Amino acid sequence: MTELSPALKGPRHLLRRLRDVMAGPASAQERLDQVVTVIAADMVAEVCSIYVRRAGDVLELFATEGLNPTAVHHTRLKVGEGLVGDIAADALPLNLSDAQSHPSFAYRPETGEEIYHSLMGVPILRGGRVIGVLVVQNKTWRHYTDEEVEALEITAMVLAELVASGELVSPEEKLAAERDALLPVSLEGMRLNAGLATGTAVLHQPNILIRRIVAEDPEEELRRLEDAIRGTDSALKEVMTAGRLASAGEHRDVLEAYRMIAADTGWLGRIRDAIKTGLTAEAAVQQVRESTRARIGQIGDPYLRERLHDLDGLANRLSQHLAQGANGQEERELPDDVVLISRNLGPAELLDYDPDRLRALVLEEGSPTAHVCIVARALDIPVLGRVKDVLGKIKELDRVIVDADNAQLFIRPREDVSKAFTDTMRARAERKQAYAAIRNEPAVTRDGVEIALNVNVGLEIEVSHLDETGAEGIGLYRTEIPFMVRETYPDVEAQIELYRKIFERAGGKPVVFRTLDVGGDKLLPYFDGVREENPAMGWRAIRIALDRPEMLRNQVRAMLHAAEGRPLRIMFPMIAEIAEFDRARKILDSEIDDRRSSDGPMPSEISVGAMLEVPSLLFQLPALLEKVDFLSVGSNDLLQFLFAADRNNPHVGGRYDDLSPAVLTLLDTLVRSCEKAGVPLALCGEMAGQPLAAMALIGLGFRNISMSPISIGPVKAMIRSLDVEQVRETLPPLLTLDDPSVRDRLRLFAKEHGVII
Ligand code: PEP
Ligand code: MG
Repeated sequence: MTELSPALKGPRHLLRRLRDVMAGPASAQERLDQVVTVIAADMVAEVCSIYVRRAGDVLELFATEGLNPTAVHHTRLKVGEGLVGDIAADALPLNLSDAQSHPSFAYRPETGEEIYHSLMGVPILRGGRVIGVLVVQNKTWRHYTDEEVEALEITAMVLAELVASGELVSPEEKLAAERDALLPVSLEGMRLNAGLATGTAVLHQPNILIRRIVAEDPEEELRRLEDAIRGTDSALKEVMTAGRLASAGEHRDVLEAYRMIAADTGWLGRIRDAIKTGLTAEAAVQQVRESTRARIGQIGDPYLRERLHDLDGLANRLSQHLAQGANGQEERELPDDVVLISRNLGPAELLDYDPDRLRALVLEEGSPTAHVCIVARALDIPVLGRVKDVLGKIKELDRVIVDADNAQLFIRPREDVSKAFTDTMRARAERKQAYAAIRNEPAVTRDGVEIALNVNVGLEIEVSHLDETGAEGIGLYRTEIPFMVRETYPDVEAQIELYRKIFERAGGKPVVFRTLDVGGDKLLPYFDGVREENPAMGWRAIRIALDRPEMLRNQVRAMLHAAEGRPLRIMFPMIAEIAEFDRARKILDSEIDDRRSSDGPMPSEISVGAMLEVPSLLFQLPALLEKVDFLSVGSNDLLQFLFAADRNNPHVGGRYDDLSPAVLTLLDTLVRSCEKAGVPLALCGEMAGQPLAAMALIGLGFRNISMSPISIGPVKAMIRSLDVEQVRETLPPLLTLDDPSVRDRLRLFAKEHGVII
């Protein structure tokens, strides 16, 4: 066996001593008292304390070395209160050299802790639930190293068994806790994928309890780990080739990326090292997983964070393999309406569940751009993330309501709450049916004006839903999305394949391809972006394309190939100056020449447009309109630059209204210029998908709008109830008002004229 680094020798020594204490004949409380002394000595800490979670979400000081002994069984904190409460609520370690200046610090005079400045604490976890907190403190402003945090986490794992043994908390209290667990609870989270659902809670990891932590034979544990890695890999391959997923492109890309991450030697190396410190394979996976989780919170880069989330998902799979032997997953009896609850989840884990039974996904962690959310979105499953301590509050088979739209979770809801939701869901289902009923009806206003309704898509699977929406075509195909879910840069061949599939899936309906809009918050795994202060205004989209022309060249070459006799529409994002459009167009033209001189089939026609997303372009319209075949307003970006308000920053999100005289005046001018120049104009930002805003756009003269597939129904219903002439007459006086918004006036107009919004 390889020699251990000095940092790893510490835990092994501590583990041995803890094992001796645990194996001793003393009572649970006595063992706890001994444990704190052993840990304090080993970690050269003046204080070591153990808090145990009791009924009513209270953390009670159960044992301490260093704090006032009279505080034991007296000092209590609610989960979420003070630093100890934070550790429990977040299920994450905390490492502070100056604990008292932390905003969450809650001073408890009975403990005498005012003389200790540094603090390191970790959650004691069992089955994913926080059952206690282990803390060390020092008088000096000490900085605990990552190795020390890891050592404390390992110690917490050993303690979990003792804390959960039932000897520390009386059976009566357990009963009281169970009574608590029957009460309704509502929790807040973050909307990761919109939607409403009711169902039965299924805990992703209900039974994985690590019973053996300290290993007798590390070589044997390493062998077990290798078996589990092999098992996980072949199970993943199986998922990828399963009928339902074999054809869906992005799923496979996501899973392939996931497999590659699994082979990440750094990560596996850390698990192997942890085994060498004396842990069993399952304990080592758990330990590395916990420290990976702690890192996720500290990392700003969204791409890296997601990869760490993927590692968390993989750790789940490895743990399951280790728990169940090499035979893979045991079949579980699942209810028909699964609301899956997990701390985190990889994309492959989600696919382990039958999508027909999955109603929603609830995560303690998670981020909107995580791979699991991309997959959930494609399957139309609502996802609620960042729900603190959900695993501590929910039991398997509890009834739950997930209101991802309003970022809320209701556990064991009261009768009246349940009824209100069932009514809302029924109303939604009825509306959905009403939209489905007009799916094949034309998007024509009452006074006979035809509107082209298109969809914005990025995932291949969304293109396959084109028919379900009854949309005219794809008004915005965000080509960066398939690039983002791949682990390597797709070469020209791979791109041809991709775009050909899009054409085929669109079944002859028009598709507008937008060239790569990467940079900003859309990072590519294989592309070294630069860290920027203002990424939305930074090196992104056409700016990258012109600085790295080979990327653009490859992309348009692939599009020219894939079109094969069909019309090709290409647009460039984030154009700020005509010269940028010219340069991009030149690259395209030289590719068109090359294609012509080869024998391959040409597109039947080629149109080239620009996205209007940067306000500077508004002041170059006459010259620009001579050069473009069409213009598409990217109102999401245009308005963020117009108002200087970051579209992703919730503090400024509601500050300016899209339906303001300024915006409407701008769009009015634009419509007139395009009409005069005879250049087709479209709008493909979020505005287009809101019936009220779409009504205003149509009143201004827009005849082509593109939106998320889900908005087609409501917008079409609005159009079919609208008289364009009436709204057109209403608008001009609104443009000159000095109000920040004309939303209410437009709403009133809609109400008075029977427009369905
Ligand atoms: C926009 O900016 O309005 C747009 C459609 O592009 P994206 O949302 O992809 O930036
Ligand atoms: Mg944009």
